[in-house]
Amino acid sequence: MKIIYTDVLVVGAGLAGLRMAVAAKRRGQDTIILSLVPPKRSHSKAAQGGMQASLGNVIKGLGDNEDVHFADTVKGSDWGCDQDVARLFVNTSPKAVRELAAWGVPWSRITPGDRQVIINGERVTITERKEAAGLIGQRDFGGTKKWRTCFVSDGTGHAMLNAVSDRVIAEHIPVVERVEAIALIHDGKRCYGAVVRDLITGELMAYVSKATAIAAGGAGRLFRVTTNAVICEGTGHSLALETGVATLGNMEAVQFHPTGIFPAGILVTEGCRGDGGLLRDVDGHRFMPDVEPEKKELASRDVVSRRMEERIAQGKGVKSRFGEHIWLDITLLGEHHIKHNLREVYEICHYFLGVDPVKEWIPVRPAQHYTMGGIRTNYTGESRQLKGLFAAGECACWDMHGFNRLGGNSVAETVVAGMLVGEYIADFCEKPENVIDIPTSIVYDFIKREQAKLDRFCDGHGSEDPAKLRARMQDIMTSKIGIFRRGADMESAVSELEDLYKRSFNVSCKPHLGANTELTYAYRTQKMLRLALTIACGASARTESRGAHFREDYPVRDDSKWLKRTLAAWKDENDTLPTLSYEDLDVNKMELPPGWRGYGAKNYIDHPDTAKRQAEVDEIRAKMEAEGADRFAIQNALMPYAHLLPKRLQGKNERIDEPLA
Ligand SMILES: Cc1cc2nc3c(=O)[nH]c(=O)nc-3n(C[C@H](O)[C@H](O)[C@H](O)COP(=O)(O)OP(=O)(O)OC[C@H]3O[C@@H](n4cnc5c(N)ncnc54)[C@H](O)[C@@H]3O)c2cc1C
Repeated sequence: MKIIYTDVLVVGAGLAGLRMAVAAKRRGQDTIILSLVPPKRSHSKAAQGGMQASLGNVIKGLGDNEDVHFADTVKGSDWGCDQDVARLFVNTSPKAVRELAAWGVPWSRITPGDRQVIINGERVTITERKEAAGLIGQRDFGGTKKWRTCFVSDGTGHAMLNAVSDRVIAEHIPVVERVEAIALIHDGKRCYGAVVRDLITGELMAYVSKATAIAAGGAGRLFRVTTNAVICEGTGHSLALETGVATLGNMEAVQFHPTGIFPAGILVTEGCRGDGGLLRDVDGHRFMPDVEPEKKELASRDVVSRRMEERIAQGKGVKSRFGEHIWLDITLLGEHHIKHNLREVYEICHYFLGVDPVKEWIPVRPAQHYTMGGIRTNYTGESRQLKGLFAAGECACWDMHGFNRLGGNSVAETVVAGMLVGEYIADFCEKPENVIDIPTSIVYDFIKREQAKLDRFCDGHGSEDPAKLRARMQDIMTSKIGIFRRGADMESAVSELEDLYKRSFNVSCKPHLGANTELTYAYRTQKMLRLALTIACGASARTESRGAHFREDYPVRDDSKWLKRTLAAWKDENDTLPTLSYEDLDVNKMELPPGWRGYGAKNYIDHPDTAKRQAEVDEIRAKMEAEGADRFAIQNALMPYAHLLPKRLQGKNERIDEPLA
């Protein structure tokens, strides 16, 4: 049996994992990265639209800054996020974009002078400033107040992942590919690394580490129709859940993206709508202005997805042999724009649909897209229950997204969390009390335990087919835990998922040596069923509507009862359901107390402390403004956060209109 020792073990080689590894390595910590696939094939590569950072370069971004980005993020989250984490994020994102530029990301840049854009269905001319010539450009994306999303045509994730992956090579950080972490080594209080399966040989080994950081991406494949890659099976979430100690936060918070191409679910970016694309129904009618007069096609994703499904339910969907859909019309953007700024969209339509988006409308329907829920951490990225376990990126619930993450905020989160959490990990490793001293017998016991679990799948006694279990799970998740949720449906989903979970112990696999893909599929299906239960139980218990969690039987956001985060644990190996608990969000510490998001329904029940806190915030702001205090001083008085930033990442961001002294 192999045991490999390192300071920092990073599980996942997407943007978050790679960037975190760079930070830890630069602080002198030996770091190893594990990945199911070669790093440059991680799902981050698929990000098309862009990365939010308040640079304020383009004319439509004039006046943008951390405060505006912060407000967009908190409102987008429907007040489900941790506001201090959102502050750390918006402050660091401009630094991250600039660092990536220095690492070679070819951000689309600004040409000064007039340019034609489509706004609200009309072609208008905007004039970029001379002083912005050659600076990083930004597009309209994510329902934000200002144009803030930096992009590389529509291959943003591709360009970012190449640059960060090349940085990892330059820093001599080893990446071990085609391996899967299948369990964490721990004693209930402290994490000591992971049991890892070689996907080619089937061999189990152990990586023992001072700090173990999970950056294993989303869990979209729990659903039948998803924009996620086939490797997004939530294996990272499972690692934490199966410790029995670490918790997952807000697993019921699942985002559906409005424009998955129909019926395959492959994403065409929100940049299509950001750049001026329109949604049309069966009559060719542009219906979004009727239902969302403020933001129209650019309301937040949860809202647009619901409006599309409502339109279909009203009999205004387009019928096809695969079911019903809505049209996305980008023809008004013109051939040059589509073939340059939306190049991948053009190719996806061409190759997967046989549609030419320059001339024809694209069939779209909402598809599962983003997993807001994840391994619950504090602002340093460390699990609150298991010392030495960290998480970052989509698999984490660091929680700047709450119940709906904004377009462009996710790839931004991956690199920003990578930068910050990487520093906090290095701080952790440098503390003498965090040195580990673990007998090899404990490590061997973990390997043996995991081997025994795998052997049980192949002991020849099972009669169940994991493919059938998985397909049924995906159907249940899509039909009963989807965009519109109802109590009775969810109760039946929970009981059926629990039954599928029990049956997953009775599957039959052939005991091949080597790359036994049948076995891989079987144990992952069981892990996915556990996760599906955390989502279904969390959704069923949350009797309100917030962000992407919409209940027809409880359509109102209820801050009086539900201004809290769901925590799911799998306390005992023999349990067949998760144990839920809750973490309150403290209104009295919020910089932005709960209110209306600026789009979607205006109905919500206030928290008893909201009015008091709002009055306090208003008073502080009015007083300090009258005294001539700047926005930084006012922000600091409302919710101080700068002390939480690692030293090297503190400091203001320079903008054309906000030069540093
Ligand atoms: C089609 C699409 C387009 C998107 N476009 C945008 C966009 O324009 N802007 C935006 O902000 N966001 C976008 N997103 C979201 C964003 O791309 C993702 O949230 C983000 O890239 C996730 O990065 P990550 O580093 O957390 O995980 P990933 O990039 O998914 O990487 C996960 C890594 O973990 C590894 N791994 C997983 N499990 C294990 C295991 N058990 N053992 C070892 N390794 C493991 C994988 O091999 C992989 O290397 C998009 C998402 C999709 C689906």
